[in-house]
Amino acid sequence: VPQKPHPAAPAPRRPSVAVQIGKVTVGGGAPVVVQSMTNTDTEDPASTAKQVAELARAGSELVRITVNTPAAAAAVPRIAERLAMMGVEVPIVGDFHYNGHQLLEREPACAEVLAKYRINPGNVGFGKKKDSQFGAIIEKAIQYGKPVRIGANWGSLDQGMLTALMDENARRAEPWDASHVAREALIRSALDSAALAEKIGLPRERIILSCKVSGVQELIAVYRDLAARCDYALHLGLTEAGMGSKGITASSAALAVLLQEGIGDTIRISLTPEPGASRTGEVIVAQELLQTMGLRSFTPLVTACPGCGRTTSEFFQELAKTVQEHVREQMPVWRIKYDGVENLTLAVMGCIVNGPGESKHANIGISLPGNGEAPAAPVFIDGEKAMTLRGDRIAEEFVGILDDYVAR
Ligand code: SF4
Repeated sequence: VPQKPHPAAPAPRRPSVAVQIGKVTVGGGAPVVVQSMTNTDTEDPASTAKQVAELARAGSELVRITVNTPAAAAAVPRIAERLAMMGVEVPIVGDFHYNGHQLLEREPACAEVLAKYRINPGNVGFGKKKDSQFGAIIEKAIQYGKPVRIGANWGSLDQGMLTALMDENARRAEPWDASHVAREALIRSALDSAALAEKIGLPRERIILSCKVSGVQELIAVYRDLAARCDYALHLGLTEAGMGSKGITASSAALAVLLQEGIGDTIRISLTPEPGASRTGEVIVAQELLQTMGLRSFTPLVTACPGCGRTTSEFFQELAKTVQEHVREQMPVWRIKYDGVENLTLAVMGCIVNGPGESKHANIGISLPGNGEAPAAPVFIDGEKAMTLRGDRIAEEFVGILDDYVAR
């Protein structure tokens, strides 16, 4: 018997400086914030505002848009106006690469409307221009009172920094491997840029850092080192995670390890959507990751068994799907009307083996009959058997019982 059992909980959160982005706080012990990014052309205010609204309604607490051209920068205030008309209140973050210093100078209304600027230190300028162009963006952040994310990325590494580190490494008695050198370049690029931003006059309370890579083990190593070397708030994300199950699995694997260690103040799950699919999938994955880890609650989640040879009908999978979709559809209203509804637990189970037991652990659960069992589905409410459903209206009746329970 171990002397001290392992706690079934994440490590305490890493202390970090709180950063205010509009009404959203990132870091300083605030709940881990879910964010996402549009994939519309920012020059098109109608479609961009529509997608920002969809992401915000799905639960994205910050939404980033690319600001890459003068027309895109000019469209930002019009996007904000459209969102205000739709009644959508979400901080908008401007994603700048290469020409951010020019766009923020040229479009003061864009600089004013954005709630945060994201700068990539790997492409803000090169050679002698690098510090002056980076400095120009920081000056704008100071002028308009905005926070900045200094977001280094494996795919656009600061080449000057990398070359200097390779030279340094060559002089080392025991040289690092190439991956270690690249990780160090990424971290130093972010930390040196943050130090420069502070020297120019941007307070620590307005700086967030990220160092994104596309490999799970590399991301974990980078963030463990970064977290140990500073107290800036950290944005976590596995960049270019990929499509479908691969992207979800890789992002969850990497972010779960870091979140379990208390590292990370805001997360983005970067999924490549299926053609024509909604962008909101990445928001749901981010919420489910945080909720299943016990870090936040967004919506009641359905516990369901995988099904097996004891339940050959598809009815039970359909019921689990119906219940989860019903809950998601109702949440915008439930959240306003019923305090704490997001903490409810639901269970839809396929047979008598684990059905009654798992259903009793949930606030409300149903155990459907497996093959050869009597055609009856006991419903459990707060651990007690409350009724038994029969016949071909089990799905509708169970959803009705759920709605009544939530209302009560
Ligand atoms: Fe199979 Fe029953 Fe277990 Fe579901 S609860 S996986 S149907 S044995």
